[in-house]
Amino acid sequence: MAATVSSFISAINDSITSNKVFLTDLDGVIGDADHGINMTRGFNAVVLKVSEEDSDVGATLKKVGMTLISTVGGASGPLYGTAFMKAGGEAAGMTTLDGETISKMWLAALEGIKARGKATLGEKTMIDAIEPAMEAFNKAMGEGATIEEGLDKAIEAAEVGIEYTKTIRATKGRASYLGDRSIGHQDPGATSFTIILKTIAEHYK
Ligand code: ADP
Ligand code: MG
Ligand code: MG
Repeated sequence: MAATVSSFISAINDSITSNKVFLTDLDGVIGDADHGINMTRGFNAVVLKVSEEDSDVGATLKKVGMTLISTVGGASGPLYGTAFMKAGGEAAGMTTLDGETISKMWLAALEGIKARGKATLGEKTMIDAIEPAMEAFNKAMGEGATIEEGLDKAIEAAEVGIEYTKTIRATKGRASYLGDRSIGHQDPGATSFTIILKTIAEHYK
């Protein structure tokens, strides 16, 4: 991994910002039309806090998480904020990451989101992309894949996860107010996670 942690964060900010309208429109269908606005506000604030001198991945991700929690209104701020903080906790003092560390970071992030949002797989949330993507990454790594290959498998699984969210009814978050009318529409948070994952994978290469 030649790229610095700050360059990853900056790439995520760029991709989230360019998907601001798309994510907001998805949220407009089953929520309150602000997911892209929330995420863009958060990552715009994050890039101002992170600099090239930040070499400690763990400390930097904790800073990212705290900034997301303090700047993003809505459910996604505390959830993504917790995820980045928990992931950072597994990378304390590290300047590069191996596959095993990435797996630990991913699990810590997922567990943090589940604890904070009291949601589980199949409730039409970001978890429906994050969990299968993590499992696909772990499976690939267990079969001797490189991190790049593992991330590609994770993206495929996250995209299947997005499709799955279309088929189910929301039971957590604002979309749950719609009940069965949430069926047929993809979850914005599962989508933003997949955008972040794709950005990480592209930037990793
Ligand atoms: P809000 O719903 O407060 O307006 P956002 O629109 O920014 O916040 O984020 C909505 C996304 O947050 C949803 O698409 C879903 O993926 C995620 N989400 C909402 N509630 C939960 C929860 N309890 N657990 C996990 N993810 C959740
Ligand atoms: Mg919303
Ligand atoms: Mg909102």
